[in-house]
Amino acid sequence: MDLSRFPRRRYTHAPTPIELLPNFTKALAASCPGGVGPEIWIKRDDLLGLFPGGNKTRKLEFLAADALAQGADTLITCGAPQSNHCRITLAAAVKEGLKCRFVIEERVPNSYSKEAGGNNFMFELMGVEAITVVPGGSDMGAAMSKIAQEVASLGRKGYIIPGGGSNAIGGLGYVACVQEMQQQWFDMGLALDAVVVGSGSSGTHGGMVAGFLGNNIKIPLIGIGVSREPIDQEPLVYKEAQAVADLLGIGKVPRDAVKSFGGFWQPKYSVPNAKMVEAVQMLARTEGVLLDPVYTGKIMAGLMGLARQGHFKPNAKVLFMHTGGLPSLDVYQDVVLGRTELKD
Ligand SMILES: *Cc1c(COP(=O)(O)O)cnc(C)c1O
Repeated sequence: MDLSRFPRRRYTHAPTPIELLPNFTKALAASCPGGVGPEIWIKRDDLLGLFPGGNKTRKLEFLAADALAQGADTLITCGAPQSNHCRITLAAAVKEGLKCRFVIEERVPNSYSKEAGGNNFMFELMGVEAITVVPGGSDMGAAMSKIAQEVASLGRKGYIIPGGGSNAIGGLGYVACVQEMQQQWFDMGLALDAVVVGSGSSGTHGGMVAGFLGNNIKIPLIGIGVSREPIDQEPLVYKEAQAVADLLGIGKVPRDAVKSFGGFWQPKYSVPNAKMVEAVQMLARTEGVLLDPVYTGKIMAGLMGLARQGHFKPNAKVLFMHTGGLPSLDVYQDVVLGRTELKD
């Protein structure tokens, strides 16, 4: 597929590595039926450019380019207090000489504190222009429009990026990723049986669905929900995938191209569970690769859970998309070291 007609900035200057995880594969197999499990490979999108953060960098290559093409001088976006997306959007804004404003949604009451560590420190260090905090469940689109009006009243031009950067333009980042991976698989002589990816605001999963379709890739793409069960998540991903496909002009997305699993994110988005801790510890202690507690720890827990349920045929080659998110790991030290009692 030809993406060259879409404006793009480059924040990562080489394909991110695809690696085999031999020790993790062995450790996982020991807990699978008959002691045989899938062979696990990893796509290191935790090593993308900009501020070390993860998958939002790929979406922002297209979103920031579009903002610049439209003559905007301020990026406006939204997220939770430890949002990877907000932090990376700010880094992109700094790099492009743009200003940046956030609407922060306090999904957990009183979780936002200006003095807190993690993101708030980094927001200040990179020079965010303004932060508006709103209660959980607020209309984020309306809140961002209000900020855009304020910016306009100063004679400037804002560019609104939806939560997670998940719209048709942002989704192009993961179409580009699919093209990058497809070339890597070919060069490596690697015939995969499935790809596992996190499914949140849906730009990553939906963009990849469109990328698989447009590039005629037939292996299953398995989404692991980080905040919703399939009945709520799949329509969201489907809508995103179709929006990306429409932008690309590749026709109708079959509904069954969108597949996700739930059961690994509870009790709530961003709230830790025991499965996540097991996954974070297991990958850290077998391969020295870190996962984050909000997304990739739960997504890997999903891959492990499916493997243990016998979802993959023995020795199937399964690629795990490491979508990043590591800066938030620090805020959850006691949890991931097992010092906090957790439910499954
Ligand atoms: C945002 C995010 C995801 C989920 O991606 P969506 O495009 O929002 O579905 C997964 N992993 C990390 C680290 C993220 O920050």
